[in-house]
Amino acid sequence: MLTPTFMPVGTHAAVRAQRREDLLDSGVQVLLANTYHLLLRPGREIFEKFGGIHGFMNWPRSVLTDSGGFQIFSLPGSRTMREEGAEFRSYVDQQIIQLSPELSIAAQRSIGADIMMVLDQCVPSTVEHGVAKAAMELTHRWARRCLAARGDSPQALFGIVQGASYADLRRESARVITDMPFDGFAIGGLAVGETAAQREDCTAVVTESLPAGRPRYLMGVGTTRDLLEAVHRGVDMFDCILPTALAKQGVAFTSLGRRDLRRAAYRAVAAPLDPACACHTCKTYSIAYLWHLQRVHETQGWQLLGLHNIHFYQDLMRRMRAHILAGTWSAFYRIQRDVLDARDSYGPAVTHVTKAQRRRLAQRRGRYEVLARDGIGHIRDTHSGEIMHPVSDPAQEARSLYVVPARVRERLQGEESAPLVIWDVGLGAAANAMATIAAAETLARPTATQTLQTSAPDARPPRPLLLVSFENDLDSLLLALRQISVFPYLRHAAPHKIATEHRWESRTAAIEWRLLPGDFAVLKFSAPLPDIIYFDPFSFKTDSVLWSLAAFRELAQVCAPSATQLFTYTASTSVRAAMLAAGFYVARGAATGPKAETTIALSPRAAAGCHGHELLGEEWLVKWRRSDARVPFGADPEDPSWQEAVSAHPQFRRREVTEE
Ligand SMILES: [Zn+2]
Repeated sequence: MLTPTFMPVGTHAAVRAQRREDLLDSGVQVLLANTYHLLLRPGREIFEKFGGIHGFMNWPRSVLTDSGGFQIFSLPGSRTMREEGAEFRSYVDQQIIQLSPELSIAAQRSIGADIMMVLDQCVPSTVEHGVAKAAMELTHRWARRCLAARGDSPQALFGIVQGASYADLRRESARVITDMPFDGFAIGGLAVGETAAQREDCTAVVTESLPAGRPRYLMGVGTTRDLLEAVHRGVDMFDCILPTALAKQGVAFTSLGRRDLRRAAYRAVAAPLDPACACHTCKTYSIAYLWHLQRVHETQGWQLLGLHNIHFYQDLMRRMRAHILAGTWSAFYRIQRDVLDARDSYGPAVTHVTKAQRRRLAQRRGRYEVLARDGIGHIRDTHSGEIMHPVSDPAQEARSLYVVPARVRERLQGEESAPLVIWDVGLGAAANAMATIAAAETLARPTATQTLQTSAPDARPPRPLLLVSFENDLDSLLLALRQISVFPYLRHAAPHKIATEHRWESRTAAIEWRLLPGDFAVLKFSAPLPDIIYFDPFSFKTDSVLWSLAAFRELAQVCAPSATQLFTYTASTSVRAAMLAAGFYVARGAATGPKAETTIALSPRAAAGCHGHELLGEEWLVKWRRSDARVPFGADPEDPSWQEAVSAHPQFRRREVTEE
């Protein structure tokens, strides 16, 4: 193996949509395959029958298998970690599966990888010191057990250095792991939430402590620029899904810049994707043709981009090797740092940009930009200056403002068999949608302890969930997906699928998510009737028309046949007046974060049922009459009809009747 080298990810013993011939042609030396996935499907006995993964996929070069640790940590669903090993639920058939150091090595021996990895406990790089230390120490004990389990296998085995982003732990881990007789050493637990600078510092701390004569492998990293920085700090091996994952989104790495083929500017460009590239895609097709394939969602579009991206990565590694051998690395590194960084900006190649400008470019898209505070990303609208979910963690706020008060979990456990339909008005960066999916997924996959307690594997499956998101501008989601380290709740297949195909369906549970792109004002007429609405348009300023009396009147008409409960973050008097005048019943919503009160609107059918919410009473009406904010947005202040509709609303009348 020539290093530095990049290993494309072949999760299921295949690199997504790529032929082995093209991988071989591009110079791939090692493929990475995921033990966790291969253990579930096709299973160990198939590998044993076909003489391992080389025979099974007819791959003549090397294969590295990971241990399964990272997948257990990163995939949704239940898992328990014990000294003995990890226990998790199969996403294929819901069976409980054990993964211990011994079982991981046995599986990797059956798969027949040339390089095996020890089982480690991966924690987010942002956890507290104590948590990181405990995970590191467990990783060390597991490393010893993996070495023992390897037995007389001729396969190489790599140890993994953990320790999150703490330099002292990283040094200690490197010392302990390099004391064991491993064939190579990996740096684990990075690319899971830290900044690029933290990652680079951490990499340098570890590589200083690793022996020079053994390969060093930085797991799960990264962009072309990340690779350059890591090689500069002494890393030899990499794996990452980016070349194929970004291809699927229409993004190509080229010597002229990172090209986003979703941009209309490329529509009629006759040139090849990268004039300096000799891959099949660049030799055969124009940018315009690739742009077209992307636009019509033709599979071949991302196949061809993926082929190019893998080729580009391999070519970059070849150039790095050549410069290291020629003694010209420093000059190459200095130039490529700027060139590769420019690639991380979209659009035409920019020749002279400052560091600060570059950082801003990478964090902006359309009218939105990302602000990261304490490792949590927020989307800011640069036109209005407003920030989505400004105060708390967006994922947490989505739960406390929408998922919990709407009793999504309870309603999914209800008796009904028709799907629970939730409208997510204002997809934004998908915080509300992902919190809902997370809630539904925990029901679909009860935790191991729950199963033990109830011992009811045949319990009734939850009610199907149909989540319908409305959004007229996908830029904030696309931007968040690009900065996924600060939007950890997006680490899931669903948001990527929604961004590209506008539809995602769970393979393991009755959960469907649809995106209706365009204006809610129009789309609400054609969507399936909702049981629950999360009414979360960005703001009054940017979406003021959605808050108008006319809009609530239309919405009330649409929801009239159904028992709909609408949840929104505001407690504004004029919004409540608009809802009442439109015919909704209005209740107080729970306080959350900095908001002392929120609002729930109920369709008459929902209000007639047993809803458990506290309707506004006479005292609110008194306050409303005196309020400066009594006029609904878009209503004529002098028009008596809406004033009468509020004053004479049955929700107040009923109260008076019962009090008499
Ligand atoms: Zn190419």
